[in-house]
Amino acid sequence: NRTPVTVIGLGAMGRALAGAFLDNGHPTTVWNRSIGKAEELAVRGATVANTVDEAIAASPVVVICVLDYAVVHEILGPLSGSIAGRTLVNLTNGTPKQAREAAEWAAGYGADYLDGGIMAVPVMIGRPEAVILYSGSAGAFGVHERALGALGTATYLNADAGHASLYDLALLAAMYGMFGGVYQAAAMVGSEKVPAAEFAPMVVSWLNAMTAALPAVAEAMDAGDGADDDDSNLQMQAVSFANILSASREQGISTALLEPMQALLDRAVAAQRGGAGTPSLIAMLRTDPVPA
Ligand code: NDP
Repeated sequence: NRTPVTVIGLGAMGRALAGAFLDNGHPTTVWNRSIGKAEELAVRGATVANTVDEAIAASPVVVICVLDYAVVHEILGPLSGSIAGRTLVNLTNGTPKQAREAAEWAAGYGADYLDGGIMAVPVMIGRPEAVILYSGSAGAFGVHERALGALGTATYLNADAGHASLYDLALLAAMYGMFGGVYQAAAMVGSEKVPAAEFAPMVVSWLNAMTAALPAVAEAMDAGDGADDDDSNLQMQAVSFANILSASREQGISTALLEPMQALLDRAVAAQRGGAGTPSLIAMLRTDPVPA
C-alpha cells in the first residue's frame, strides 16, 4: 500500500513530481492555480482538488513546488489548520533563511516539515540520478523516505531545515560558475567560427580532468591552506588569467564574467599571497565585505 501524496504546484517540476508518484502507484492528489496543467495528470489517475484545503486534507504527505517562497506563503498562508499532523515537503527553491522561517511556520500549524533541494531537471525525476536533498524533521523523513524515493534518490542531510537549501544553492553556485566559464569558452572559439558542439567534447574532458583534483583542493581549503604552492602559484595564475581577458577582448568577446575572478586573483597577489595556491582564495571570500 502506497502512501497517498498531494502535490501543490504543477509547473514543469511539479508535474514531473506528481507523474513520478503516479508511476509508483501512490494515490496522488494535485492542485495548481491554473487548473489546465492538471489535465494530463488527471488522465493518468490523479485526483484534482478544487481547493488547497481539499488537496491538503487528501494526504499525509503534502509536497509543494512552486516558483518561490513568497508563492508558498501566498498559497499556504490562509490555511485553516488542515495541515496539522501532516508532513509538508517544500521542494521550492529558496534560501536557508526562508526554509527555516517556513519550518517555524509549519511547526506553528502542528505540521512536520521537510525542506528539499532538487538536484535535477524535470526529465530526470523518478530516476536514481535525480538526487533530492532533504533537511528538517528526521522523524518525518524516516516515515516517508520510501514515498519520497519515488522522486529519485532521497538524501537526508540533517535536522536544520535550512541545510537542504544551503547545499542546493551552493551546488548551483558551482554549476553556474562552471557554465559561465563554458559560455565564455564557447564564445572565444566561436569568434573563429568553431562550432560549440565541435568544441564541447574537449571542454568535457578538460573539466573532468580538473574536477578530479577537487577533493584534494577541498582538503587544502579545510586546512586553511595559505602554504606556498610550488606547482601552480597564484601570481602565475593571475598573469595567465589576465591573458584570458586580453584574448577575449582581442576576439571581441565580453570579459564581464571573468572580471570578478581576475579581481580576486589580483587582490590575493596584492596581499602578498602570490606564492600560495588557489585554495587560499576561499579565505578572501570569507573576509571580503559582503555588499548590501
Ligand atoms: P514553472 O515556472 O514551470 O512553474 C511555476 C509554478 O509556480 C506553477 O505551478 C505556477 O502556477 C506557480 N506559481 C507562480 N506564481 C504563483 C502565484 N502567484 N500563485 C500561485 N501559484 C503560482 O517552474 P518549475 O515548476 O520549473 O519550478 C518550480 C520550482 O522547482 C522552483 O522553485 C524551481 O527553482 C525548482 N526547480 C526547478 C527545476 C527545473 O529545471 N524546472 C530544477 C530544480 C528545481 P501556474 O501554473 O498557475 O502559473
